[in-house]
Amino acid sequence: MFIDKATITVKAGKGGDGAVAFHREKYVPAGGPDGGDGGRGGNIIVVADDNMSTLMDFRYKRKYVAENGINGSGANMKGRDGKDVIIKVPRGTLIRDKESGAIIKDMSDAQPFVLAKGGRGGWGNQHFASPTRQVPRFAKPGTAGEVREVVLELKLLADVGLVGFPNVGKSTLLSVVSKAHPKIANYHFTTLYPNLGVVYVSEGVSFVMADIPGIIEGASEGAGLGHDFLRHIDRCRLLIHLVDVSGSEGRDPIEDFEAINNELKEYSPELAERPQIVVANKTDLLPEGSGLLNEFREYVTELGYDFFEISAATHTGTQELVKAAAEKLRSLPPIRVFEADYVAPEPVIDTSESVTIERYDDVWIVEGAWLEKLVATVNFSDYESRMYFDRIMREAGIFEKMEAMGVKDGDVVSIYDLEFEYQS
Ligand code: GDP
Ligand code: MG
Repeated sequence: MFIDKATITVKAGKGGDGAVAFHREKYVPAGGPDGGDGGRGGNIIVVADDNMSTLMDFRYKRKYVAENGINGSGANMKGRDGKDVIIKVPRGTLIRDKESGAIIKDMSDAQPFVLAKGGRGGWGNQHFASPTRQVPRFAKPGTAGEVREVVLELKLLADVGLVGFPNVGKSTLLSVVSKAHPKIANYHFTTLYPNLGVVYVSEGVSFVMADIPGIIEGASEGAGLGHDFLRHIDRCRLLIHLVDVSGSEGRDPIEDFEAINNELKEYSPELAERPQIVVANKTDLLPEGSGLLNEFREYVTELGYDFFEISAATHTGTQELVKAAAEKLRSLPPIRVFEADYVAPEPVIDTSESVTIERYDDVWIVEGAWLEKLVATVNFSDYESRMYFDRIMREAGIFEKMEAMGVKDGDVVSIYDLEFEYQS
């Protein structure tokens, strides 16, 4: 079974917590703080792999969790970073946000992509020592790793896409002009998943050709197999439209040609406008005196299409066809890469969730799930953004509580990555 769509959940590791520790040595009564930092949480990284051609693996494994960072420890020992998880996908896989369907990333180049970032490790108490604060009994917790639910969707990367009714000879053509070995048989729907083949035309000139399962009438409305597979030729720069002109199956070439074009249009008007080379196949089977080929040639050339006559079975005309395709590709734009259009939604900040305020002399450590989200969204070099932060904090009554607990001007307030001096 060919799988070209899958939903997965990924969770990056949490950052390790910073340690509270003090140097211990014989005959040294009170050593300084030496609690190490927590390690970074592992990332979830996606890479395109040219040896993969389906999303099959994701049917069985849908959850990917990266390791948490290790907590810091005494003697200034930093905790180890959590290990990253690397997810391999076939080249040409789109990563979409599950909820909105927006594109997060088109995995069509070799660059690894960080899909979920691990949390940062918290600082150990060694960072908090100062001349006036020699015994910091606190450290910072690590931050949470990102969690995402995404849909992987394979959109093959090929220069040329073969289209046509089942049994017209698409797989045969691909096997003749490339080293690909698609399944070929004289019955409909032998091709159940797309095949890619590299077509070497001459020294330094080659292109990738994709054979997809035959489109049938109504496919674009989801009537048959074809619909799902049309997305695999979405990116193709050029289509080769194969038609059986032999009449061996009692079909009419012009009707077939129009039916396929209509299917393309139904699926995507843009795809229907993609440059096409029209190819009459199975010319070796043409009965003596058949007018089908001549009629079809006239029809297609009048519409302005490039037209070729071949017999894939006997290899007649196939080299001329691939040369013409290569020539045409030279003037066509490169394979489409989809721009990311995903915008992270504003996090929901629910200030009624609990917050803990801890005091260590002149240092205040404030923690809470919504605070972590808030701090992550605020840009503290921007005035407006700072005002927003201030307002939320006041509305939530945090500063009020701290005042009741005796906070003084100049005390240090530490909220995850943020640290500032309190000013009433
Ligand atoms: P697809 O469904 O379009 O991929 O068609 P296939 O490549 O599987 O071919 C269907 C049948 O037509 C197979 O039996 C092929 O051997 C046969 N066939 C393909 N091309 C030709 C050709 O040019 N001449 C003849 N005589 N048979 C062909
Ligand atoms: Mg086939």
